[in-house]
Amino acid sequence: MREERLIKQIMTCSILLLCAVTAFSGYVKGVTPAEGSENTLPEGAGGTPSGESGESVATPAVVPTTVASFPITPEPIMSPTGLPEPSEQLVRVLPEAWSDIRGAETTAVYDYLTDKTIVLEKREGYENAVLTLEELPVLRQLRVTVSGVMGEPIREENVKRIAQDTCYSGTPPTPTPTATPVPTKAGEPTQGLKPGMQPTPTPTLSPEDPFYPWRNDLIRVISSEEEIMDDGALTQTLLLTLDRTYVYRVYEDEWNYYISLVRPKDVYSKIIVVDAGHGGNDAGTSSAGSVFLEKTVNLNIVLYLKELLDAHPDICVYYTRLNDTKPSLKQRVNLANDLEADFFLSVHCNANVAKSLHGTEVLYSSLQNGWTGMNSRRFALICLAEMNEQVGLFDRGIVARDHNVTIIRDAKMPVALVETAFMSNVSDMEILAQEQTQRNIAGALCSAVLKAYEELEEIGAGEPMPEEQGMPSGNPEASSGE
Ligand SMILES: [Zn+2]
Repeated sequence: MREERLIKQIMTCSILLLCAVTAFSGYVKGVTPAEGSENTLPEGAGGTPSGESGESVATPAVVPTTVASFPITPEPIMSPTGLPEPSEQLVRVLPEAWSDIRGAETTAVYDYLTDKTIVLEKREGYENAVLTLEELPVLRQLRVTVSGVMGEPIREENVKRIAQDTCYSGTPPTPTPTATPVPTKAGEPTQGLKPGMQPTPTPTLSPEDPFYPWRNDLIRVISSEEEIMDDGALTQTLLLTLDRTYVYRVYEDEWNYYISLVRPKDVYSKIIVVDAGHGGNDAGTSSAGSVFLEKTVNLNIVLYLKELLDAHPDICVYYTRLNDTKPSLKQRVNLANDLEADFFLSVHCNANVAKSLHGTEVLYSSLQNGWTGMNSRRFALICLAEMNEQVGLFDRGIVARDHNVTIIRDAKMPVALVETAFMSNVSDMEILAQEQTQRNIAGALCSAVLKAYEELEEIGAGEPMPEEQGMPSGNPEASSGE
C-alpha cells in the first residue's frame, strides 16, 4: 500500500524505489527488515508532496538498504521513522569535496551522507528509473542495476566518489606492476605474476608514487552492461569493485543516486564470518574413491549452521560462500578483516596418508597468544570443547597453524579452523557422512559462537599488547594440510 502511494509521488518528485536484493542474502544471513523501515519510503521521507510546482522537496528520498534489510543491532542508527539520524557518529562529507556534486547547493541529502559516498549522476530520462543494489561482500563488489531508464546510461564520468576531502570521477587508474610491487614475505622466493594478473595496490603509497593521488579512491574497477528492454527502456548494470567491504545506504534526489558507505561495526555490534573451506574447482580432501568431497561436507555443515544462527538476529553473520564457489583465501580473510569481525570461523575436514589418524582438531593462531582478552587460542578451545560435547569424536586438541595457513595467519581477530574429522579414516568418514553428524557439528559450532560471545562480553575483545609480537608456536603437532 505504501508503494502505491509512493508511485503517485513519483509524478512530482524523483524518488528512489530500491529493492534490497535478496541475492545478497546468499552471503549475509537474515532479511528481517528494521521495524518501521520497509523497503518503501518511511513516513515523511522524500514523499513530501510538492504540488503542482514540481518543486523539489526538503527531505531526501531515503531507502537505507542495508540497514532496512539486514539484521539490526540492538541500537540501530535509525530513527523510528526509518530515516537514519544525521548522526554525529558518522564522519560527514567535507564541503570542499561536496561542491563538485550536481545539486550540491540545494539537496538535503547532504545531511545524511558519510565522508565516503559514491554519487551516480542521473542523466536525461531517469524520472521513472528504479535502482537495485546487490552486495557481493567477499568480492568487495557492489552490483548496481538501474532499470526503466528512458535515456542515456550512466557513464564512468558520472560515477563520482567522495572520499574525505577529494571528489574522484571517471575510470580509476590501473596500477602497474612496477608501481606497486607484490610484497613478499622475508625468506619466501619471489614469485612472478601469472600473465594477465595484476597486483593489488599496497595500502600505503609514498607521495612519489604515481597512484598516490588516488590512494583514497573508493572504487578500484567500474564495469557496465547495458540492455534495451522490450518497452524501449534501458537497464544498466554497473559492477563496482571497491577498496573494501562496507555497509551501504542509498539515497536519491532529482540529480543523483547516493550510495553512502558505512563502517559495518558502526551498524552491527556483533559480526562473525563463517567460512566453508574450499569450493568450486578446489574439492579439498575426499573420502576413499572420492565418494565424498570435503568442499561439499564443509558446505553442508555451514548451511546447517546458518539455519541455527538465523535464529540469533543480534549476530550479523557473513558467509564466505553458500554455494559451490571458490573465493580465494585472501578474499576470505579480507572479508573478516574488512568487517572488523569479532570471530572468524572456518569449517574443514582433515585427511592424512596415515589412515589410522582420526578425530577432531581445531587450528588457531598463536600470534594472538599475547593478546589481552579474547584470542584465537581461546576461541579454538571453545570450539573444540563444544565439538567434544556434541559430536564426540577423538579429541586431538588445538594446533597452532599460523605459520602456514593464510587465513589463520592474516586474520586480525580470534580465528578458529575446525578440522571436524578425518575423511581418510574409514570410521571417521562413516560417521561424518551422516546428516545427523553434520547437524551435530553445526550445533556444536553454533553453541561455540554463542559461548564465545558470552565470554567476549566478560573478558573483552582481544588486542595485541604493546610491543607484543606474538608468542612462538607451542604445538607444532604433525597434521595434514587443511
Ligand atoms: Zn580443508
